[in-house]
Amino acid sequence: MSEMVKCPSCGAEFDAKLVRCPYCGTAYEPAAEEEYMGKLDDVHKELKSHRNDAPNSAGKAVTKTILIFVIAAAVLLAIGICIFVLPSMRHKNRQDKERADYLQSISVSGQDDDESKEEEE
Ligand SMILES: [Zn+2]
Repeated sequence: MSEMVKCPSCGAEFDAKLVRCPYCGTAYEPAAEEEYMGKLDDVHKELKSHRNDAPNSAGKAVTKTILIFVIAAAVLLAIGICIFVLPSMRHKNRQDKERADYLQSISVSGQDDDESKEEEE
């Protein structure tokens, strides 16, 4: 049979498994502690079970986040190259071409003025 304890407050006897005295409501510490430890144990078990699948999913999530970040960075870099580097290269090429055309037009117009005017129109 279950152990009986005497209430320190009212002196009534009650089941030692009870957390409180059923007569006066005084907390019975050993049982309360046991219940608390039991709850703690439950929490620990729950944490453990969470920890068992949490690292994998968390690790995957982190890996996924890093992967997305890297891909985004690569895409942004590619876009940056397209926006800033390529036009300036193209611009430089065009400048070179314009300069060459200009130099050519000067030399052509210097030799023959009428011919260059016909080309412009
Ligand atoms: Zn009592």
